[in-house]
Amino acid sequence: MKFGGTSMGSAARIRVAADLTAAQQRLRPTAIVVSAMSKVTDLLLDTLRHAENNDADAIAQNVATLRARHHDTARELLDPAALPAALAEIDSILGEFERIAKGMQLLGDRPPRSVDEAIAVGERLSAILIAAYLNGQGTPAAAINSARVVITDAVHGNATPLLDLTRAKAAEHLAPLLAAGTVPVLTGFNGATADGKPTTLGRGGSDFSASIFAYALDAAELWIWTDVDGIMSADPRLVPDAKVLDEVTYAEAAELAYNGAKVLHPRTLAPLVEKKIPVWSKNSFNVAAKGTHIAPALSTPGQGARAVTSMANVAMVSVEPASAEIPGTRIMARALDALALVGAEVLTFSSSSYRQSFCFLIRKDELQVVLQALRETLALELEHGYVRPVEVDDNVGLIAVVGEGMRGQAGLAGRVFTAVSREQVNIIAIAQGSSELTINLVVPRSGIEKAVKAIHAECGMGR
Ligand code: ADP
Ligand code: ASP
Ligand code: MG
Repeated sequence: MKFGGTSMGSAARIRVAADLTAAQQRLRPTAIVVSAMSKVTDLLLDTLRHAENNDADAIAQNVATLRARHHDTARELLDPAALPAALAEIDSILGEFERIAKGMQLLGDRPPRSVDEAIAVGERLSAILIAAYLNGQGTPAAAINSARVVITDAVHGNATPLLDLTRAKAAEHLAPLLAAGTVPVLTGFNGATADGKPTTLGRGGSDFSASIFAYALDAAELWIWTDVDGIMSADPRLVPDAKVLDEVTYAEAAELAYNGAKVLHPRTLAPLVEKKIPVWSKNSFNVAAKGTHIAPALSTPGQGARAVTSMANVAMVSVEPASAEIPGTRIMARALDALALVGAEVLTFSSSSYRQSFCFLIRKDELQVVLQALRETLALELEHGYVRPVEVDDNVGLIAVVGEGMRGQAGLAGRVFTAVSREQVNIIAIAQGSSELTINLVVPRSGIEKAVKAIHAECGMGR
């Protein structure tokens, strides 16, 4: 089971999470993965930015805030007998964090490897708290820093697990605990390279950690506890009448996650596919609700367009060969090569016209490196005017309409486009994968909310 930031957000929430854990542990061996308490990762990152900018007061202030939040939670949660050890561990972990921050202050820099070590501190602190509470309640538990177990490549900030190595580490460190009836309390979000350099899996990465552990431990099921009743037809913050979906396929869940549904980290599903491990997305604030079952196939297929998501932090890049004589495919290949070189992900890609102009959507925070890579790769063509100057529109948003049952539904795309146009929202680009599981639209950022609501209503996705 994985508990997200809000599910670990206070002593009261940790008690609920621990009770859910203990109840499962009575039924079968259970491991849990925990996020940092809500907002803690943001605060850690903020502290490192202050460190880089040589602001010692801000570092001290943030560390004091972090200490107070975790100390207060520990006091509210733990018996007097267990408290001193927990407080000492909290202080020791925060001491490590402060040392790293001070190092950055001296350097005037934030080396990615040190950032990864520093920001995993949030998960380590919450793991200490819930493990101590579980032990106090008679459920043996051991807090474990996942840097010891999850082995990844060296892409700091967005690492990829090496599943075979991780599986071996899990067999070594976790299987004995499970066999002895102890709950491993694993930190979400972090790992380390094979030679021990700390890494993290990207923001929101605790979901991904949980699925990595589910794979490594051959779990029968993975339960992801969050603050909504499950995977919904749209972000409930954007669409008030969004409804909970009883079941979604791995493919639907992955499409939703990749296209901006924050409820799951985009890479969560990948480790589960091979072993077909089912997932329940559940609400720790409403434990009676059934949640969403995520599995390889639906029990009742053909349910049409079922959910719509959006992403605002994207940018569209357009490349246009100057004339039809230029081999457009070659330009495309070179451009994609440049993207691969800097590890940028293409969210949608669309090409048209005899000149083979094309445009693609990327994450906004990758825009500068992508532009630089493109300009370097296409330097000659740009210089000689074979390719027109690269154009950027960073005032756009991506919308995805998702559903297995969309396959072969004649007229659906037309209805979606009409619904969006009716709201006076201009459609800048369209892409539909050959799987027909998703229709992507690029619209002006200011039109995202209107378009999402219009599609949700037109497709009858709501309650
Ligand atoms: P956690 O801290 O538990 O990982 P997150 O905040 O990362 O929780 O994800 C849960 C949030 O995702 C919900 O509160 C909701 O606002 C948002 N969300 C966005 N799209 C969806 C969707 N399609 N279904 C459910 N929740 C969604
Ligand atoms: N604490 C991390 C974050 O805020 C990971 C997670 O919560 O999933 O990004
Ligand atoms: Mg999350």
